[in-house]
This record gives sequence, structure tokens and C-alpha cells, in this order.
Amino acid sequence: MTGRAFLQIEDVTKRFGRFTALDRISLDIAEGEFFTIVGPSGSGKSTLIRLLVGIDDVTEGTIRLNGERIDQMPANKRPTCMVFQSLALFPHMSVGRNIEFPLKLRKVAPEARRTRALELLRLLRLPENYYGKMIGQLSGGERQRVALARALAFDPQIIVFDEPLSALDYRLRKTLEKELKDLHARTGKTFVYITHSLEEAMVMSDRIAIMREGRFEQIASAEEIYSRPISRFVANFMGEVNLFGVTIDDAGQAIWNEAEIEAVPGSLALAPGWHGALMVRPELIRFLQAEETADFRITGTLVAEYALGSRIQYSVEVANGVQLTVERPFEIRHDVSIGVPVTLGWDRDAIHPIPEPNSQEAG
Ligand code: ATP
Repeated sequence: MTGRAFLQIEDVTKRFGRFTALDRISLDIAEGEFFTIVGPSGSGKSTLIRLLVGIDDVTEGTIRLNGERIDQMPANKRPTCMVFQSLALFPHMSVGRNIEFPLKLRKVAPEARRTRALELLRLLRLPENYYGKMIGQLSGGERQRVALARALAFDPQIIVFDEPLSALDYRLRKTLEKELKDLHARTGKTFVYITHSLEEAMVMSDRIAIMREGRFEQIASAEEIYSRPISRFVANFMGEVNLFGVTIDDAGQAIWNEAEIEAVPGSLALAPGWHGALMVRPELIRFLQAEETADFRITGTLVAEYALGSRIQYSVEVANGVQLTVERPFEIRHDVSIGVPVTLGWDRDAIHPIPEPNSQEAG
């Protein structure tokens, strides 16, 4: 966290009839933090946002902003603001009028509104002559920036983003990710951001919460979530990842679930009885030449390769129906081609163990 607790969500539950959409969740967000909530469809992200901005009421629990309870406060009194996914700009109004709209609602005088709108155009790096343009004359990216300017118009304490980039094409999304991060740095505002995409979250956020079925599965920095996911669920959210189920028997021997892996003695520092998954990122696996060594080795057959631009992704079948994903920097290779046997290797530092409750013990 970058400062003291600013937004405090404490033991919040939201039920719709008998269905629990949020299950006693707690979260502290610091002032000026860029905090992102990531989760699959139906995990409760929008429900949480609706409670935050006052569209819906909490069933139990409290939400505090700067120490003051806001969960019972009417929506229009809350010092938050939302940028809607659908860019709810008024198409029949000019850029200036759109940005000024929230100020007009708050009865700010016309001259002060105009000054603020021009200031925001500069902040969003749009030319001042855009003030008089109609929304229909703008590109998708420009509209998004106008929507952001409007969200910033009355100086909200927190800006809540509900999947603002999901409808945009890849390149525009990538550009706006960087612009949002930059805008965050320049305004120093607290950003709460919702997305399906962990990749998007990782580019921008100070911290990320992974949501699953109305609870937080993990709350941590992007780096931590990427390299030390707490569960298979979080690991899988990252896209391509290799997970090997393993149990350490009473003699300290590894019993592998999917495929037998050769390990240099002592390279698995796990106690007898340990049970769970070992995660290895595709970029940490390499193709071994005959004389090369590695802490872990497995042989297989290359079954597919995909060019990803600067990298190549390989699928290697290591047992019947079990494929590993390997990613290497792009290079022309003559030593691997589809159908050939290959040896893969990685070192102990590449492994992140994810303990899981032992099904036998758990009964
Ligand atoms: P998405 O990414 O698809 O927007 P989400 O993570 O935002 O999903 P929510 O919209 O918060 O998910 O919904 C969480 C759960 O609560 C879902 O199972 C949904 O069906 C349920 N839910 C949401 N609103 C209501 C409602 N008004 N009445 C009943 N159930 C609801």
C-alpha cells in the first residue's frame, strides 16, 4: 500500500434473496492507490462497485471513506464517480458541455465550468479546440479521454472504472492502459478498477485483488500474483502456466500426478506429506541439449509451435494427454521441429509450490 487506509471495506456481505453475491469481504485501499479487482464473470465485481457508489445497499458490513461511513449515504452525496463501460457520453452535446455536465449539476458558474473543462482537456492531452467539437466527430480513444475528463470534472476522491476498455480493440486498449496509468500518476487520485483481464490489471495496478465466487482469493502486487499465486485458480487466471500435481510420501519421495519428472536429489525442498501443485512459468522452461543439466528434467515430443511475435510458444507432450507449455524468445531454431523428441529442463528457482488440502486428510 502507498499510504494510510483510505477506503475501508469491512465484512461486507451482499445477498440477493438466498444467493450470496459477496461473502464477508474486507479490503483496505490506500489514498492514491491504483487498485484493480479481477475476476471471472459472476464473481461479484460489479456488485462490489454498486455498493461502493451507492447504487445498491450492503446486506451486512460497513464501507468507510476517510473514516466516515458511506454505505448508508445516498449515491449523489458520495464523493466517488464512475466511468461507465459504455462511455455514456451525450452524443448531441459538445465535448465541453459533456465535461461540464457534472459541474452544471452542482451549480458551478458557467465561466468556472469552462475554465475547468479546458484545464481537463489539457490534462487529458486533447487540444483546446476540441471544446466545441461534437462527440460524434471523435475517435474511440478520444471519446474515452473525454469520458475520463468528465469523471474528473468535480474532483472525485475515488474514481471507479467498470471495465472501461473491454469494448475497444487491442491496440487502442494497450494505448489507453498506458494513458490511464499515466493519468493516475499525474492526478494522484485513488483509482478502483474492474476488469476480466489480469494482463490489463498487471500493466496498471499497484495492487490486484483476484475475486472468486464473492470472495477475494488473493490480494497482492502484480509481481506477487504473477510469481507467487496462492492457488491454481489464481495461477490459471494468468493464462499459460504449467501445474504439476505432486505428493511427497513418507520417505520424502515425490509422487507425480500427471507425468514423472526427474529431479536432482534435494531440489524439491518439501516435507513428507506435502501435497499440492508445482507451478512453472512457460518462460522458465528450456530445451536441454544432451550434455546440459537442470534440477528438473522431463522428455517429451514437440506437438505444436506458435509464433507470438517476439516469443515462440511450444507445446510438448510429456505423457499421454499431458502437454507442457514452453515459451522462448524468438529465434530461428533448427534443433526442434514438430514430432521430434525433446528434453525440457528447469531449475529449482523456477518452481512455485502451491499447497493444497490433502483430500485424504480433508476426508
Ligand atoms: P461480470 O464480469 O459478468 O460483470 P461480475 O463479477 O461483475 O460479472 P456480478 O454482476 O457482481 O458479477 O454478479 C455476481 C453474482 O450476483 C452473479 O451470480 C449474479 O447473477 C448475481 N446478481 C447480481 N445482481 C443481482 C440481482 N440484482 N439479483 C440477483 N442476483 C444478482
